[in-house]
Amino acid sequence: MSELQRTAEDLDAADPLAAVRGRFVLDDVTYLDGNSLGALPAHVPGRVEDVVRRQWGELRIRSWEESGWWTAPERIGDRIAPLVGAAAGQVVVGDSTSVNVFKALVAAVRMAQEDGRGGGAGPVRDEILVDATTFPSDGYIAESAARMTGCALRPVAPAEVPGALGERTAAVLLNHVDYRTGRLHDLPALTAAVHAAGAYAVWDLCHSAGALPVGLDEHGVDLAVGCTYKYLNGGPGSPAYLYVRRDLQPRFDSPLPGWNSHAEPFGMRSEYAPASGAVRGRVGTPDILSLLALEAALDVWDEEGVSVAAVRAKSLALTDFFLRCVEEYVPDGRVESVTPAAHAERGSQVALRCSPTLGSARVGGAPIAGEVMKRLIERGVVGDYRAPDVLRFGFTPLYVGFADVERAARVLGRTVAG
Ligand SMILES: *Cc1c(COP(=O)(O)O)cnc(C)c1O
Repeated sequence: MSELQRTAEDLDAADPLAAVRGRFVLDDVTYLDGNSLGALPAHVPGRVEDVVRRQWGELRIRSWEESGWWTAPERIGDRIAPLVGAAAGQVVVGDSTSVNVFKALVAAVRMAQEDGRGGGAGPVRDEILVDATTFPSDGYIAESAARMTGCALRPVAPAEVPGALGERTAAVLLNHVDYRTGRLHDLPALTAAVHAAGAYAVWDLCHSAGALPVGLDEHGVDLAVGCTYKYLNGGPGSPAYLYVRRDLQPRFDSPLPGWNSHAEPFGMRSEYAPASGAVRGRVGTPDILSLLALEAALDVWDEEGVSVAAVRAKSLALTDFFLRCVEEYVPDGRVESVTPAAHAERGSQVALRCSPTLGSARVGGAPIAGEVMKRLIERGVVGDYRAPDVLRFGFTPLYVGFADVERAARVLGRTVAG
């Protein structure tokens, strides 16, 4: 046994979250792709079966009331809220992240433009800043939101946002953790800068919720969105969530005011009147099967010893150990980490650039990183590949152990050595 294997054993033996892994369905594969699709908690299939067979099959329409279907978006929002540092009543679950980006960004611009009209004295706010490194969907939607609201769209790297803000800025859309590099952006400082310019901050938490503390209330974030199928293990396509800070809720003017967000949804009125509270973020009939699978998956967070702080501590230990193992096992010059070394700037993944210019043997003319990931998966180490040259390894502390980390780096070393 190598020194790193022994170290991994010691770290696993001392890991306070080690037992939580047993709550998940896993096999011999080293699964480092929970930042794309979280693993299945073992109790979820039984709960989903009850939803389908009893709630739907036997109770049928009665389940909207008796099984709590109608209020599930707010109820499950309240279970996600503490994981992102929000008090109850500000998070609602439903629709995809992409759709929630649209709701949040248009609502933010509408508030900013209304501020401008207040008394006629405020500036005309007609510019949206978008994270230039954003997950593409957010960028596409920001472009459409800008056109709809009469704004110009300016892509800006997150670190450059403070210098790009001005009195024309209406809203800023940022990713908390960069999906490609794993870089964690400074949410408190950037939110404060956006507010100092009189604009609204919309954060996409897809790669941070469930992996690290977010502190939405503490840092005064205006609006936030995120998905639940990555670090929250809600299942493929499980619905996303929308956070609207409590004091902004009365001003949240949804661009998708469906009947579920009506003050009196069963009044069937022809005039729209928004509900109060987070419910305003709802649109149409919720996706009950996915929603209740997510609700069941969130039970893992109620386990003894499971907390965002514990998850963050282990996440940093896992990524530190992975970088150390890569250094040890991968021949010099074959890969280069694009994930920041500083803990304050690191999410819960490590991204390694693996390009022909780094001296790797070129394999069959295919993009080298894609080919390397294919071989890793064949050898039982599952991460993913992001064009053009990045290998991504996600570390979900609830079920990834230090032995997984050591094995992944060892197999990677063997794979890129040729
Ligand atoms: C995964 C991810 C999304 C996904 O959006 P969907 O609408 O669920 O497809 C959006 N934004 C970011 C930053 C992501 O990482």
